[in-house]
Amino acid sequence: MSVLYKSTRGGESKIPASMAIIKGLACDGGLFVPNEIPKIDKSLKDLAKLDYKHLAYEIMKLYFTDFTEEELTYCINSAYDEKFDTKEIAPVVKKDGAYYLELFHGSTIAFKDMALSILPYLMTTSAKKQNIDNEIVILTATSGDTGKAALAGFSDVDGIKIIVFYPKDGVSPIQKHQMVTQKGDNTYVVGIEGNFDDAQNGVKDIFNNTEFGKKMANNGYQFSSANSINIGRLIPQVVYYFYAYCNMYNSGDIDLGEKINVVVPTGNFGNILAAYYAKNMGLPINKLICASNDNKVLYDFINTGIYNKKREFVLTISPSMDILISSNLERLLYNIANNDENVISELMGSLVTEGEYEITDNMKKGLEDFYGNYASMDETCVAIKEVYDNSDYLIDSHTAVGSAVYKKYKNDTNDEAKTIIASTASPYKFTRSVMKAIDKSYDNYSDFDLINKMYELTKVEIPNAIKEILEAKVRHTRTCHKDKMKETVENILQIS
Ligand SMILES: *Cc1c(COP(=O)(O)O)cnc(C)c1O
Repeated sequence: MSVLYKSTRGGESKIPASMAIIKGLACDGGLFVPNEIPKIDKSLKDLAKLDYKHLAYEIMKLYFTDFTEEELTYCINSAYDEKFDTKEIAPVVKKDGAYYLELFHGSTIAFKDMALSILPYLMTTSAKKQNIDNEIVILTATSGDTGKAALAGFSDVDGIKIIVFYPKDGVSPIQKHQMVTQKGDNTYVVGIEGNFDDAQNGVKDIFNNTEFGKKMANNGYQFSSANSINIGRLIPQVVYYFYAYCNMYNSGDIDLGEKINVVVPTGNFGNILAAYYAKNMGLPINKLICASNDNKVLYDFINTGIYNKKREFVLTISPSMDILISSNLERLLYNIANNDENVISELMGSLVTEGEYEITDNMKKGLEDFYGNYASMDETCVAIKEVYDNSDYLIDSHTAVGSAVYKKYKNDTNDEAKTIIASTASPYKFTRSVMKAIDKSYDNYSDFDLINKMYELTKVEIPNAIKEILEAKVRHTRTCHKDKMKETVENILQIS
């Protein structure tokens, strides 16, 4: 069966996967969604026999139906190789009463590697399939982790340039250092005076600017996106939920068909949406537990049906979740509105003009798959310390939001179902916040000394991603005001 893609806002339809991947965002500002979420065509028992790559093929072939087996296998094999520090790719470890799905074993030690290690291959393969001659310019807004993972993935890829915008004062020192030391002649990194939402809005505005699109085309360029608005980011993330389930079955922790919960520390709603897709494909998931930090728009939304972005933006110790406009929620809304694009256009219009929207009672019923809660910074620190004290396992400050919220969920519901917590980053990426949570006195050390202190504490080997940047030279110093992003792009591409 062939799956085609359409915009959540109705402006485009019947687009093959390869075209949706190249475009990133639909022309009407909507997000590409499959005309139908496919069902798995093999039993879980059979899927459980597969390694990560073969499982990835079984899931992705159902969405990227215009890719040949050879093309898709090439993409998968090129992505999930020695860049990951474990053959398992996404191991599951049982600690402190939960199953931590470790998604940080790729080259930039955050879960973004799970999709961004394959996106460049999907994109170049798509460009070939669609006979694209233009050079593709990837525009990316990052709250810290997407930027580095995308830069690493696209560095020196022929026919592609990548420009990353990050909030100058809104990322961790290690996140920043990882980005500004990025090698590759086709990479550009820009710090903006603004927050992640400003960066993401700026990028979307550039995408939606048809005049600018024409100018780009006249100069032999076209834009695409490496953010989770790109369907080529979302689908590879569906794989690891199946993988984790199979892993728990293979290790005898669950029976086939047993329902599990999934907790996801959430920002842009991409990772948890992938779990929702997995559930709709046939993976036995009970609750999708959406964990927010102090920027708790999603908690409020899930509990009231009102999405309201008019609030103070809080800089937290889980910066990759510091987001007030969760783009991928639009894809969920589309599903729970029974694929009615008019409803989505209206809601998204209202978000722009009023700064808020409310969904209908019928749509609210569609949220029953979800449980939403949040953890304050103090609660997040307590969770880091508790998990460490109880099981000698150090989790990062994003994963800890998930742990804290899982605890609240259990208190609220007494649900004892086995539960996966998506572990989205290595603690080595957020050393200061994590070490301070263990003991305040660690705050007296420099960021780089803390890396060694973390090693002394955990004896978990310092990841290559960290060793590399310790000596790397800063290559990117560009900054710009949040209203000057378009000019900055013109400058970089020398088309002003
Ligand atoms: C991006 C990110 C998140 C949030 O994921 P979304 O898909 O944006 O919801 C959580 N934790 C870490 C470490 C991240 O990098």
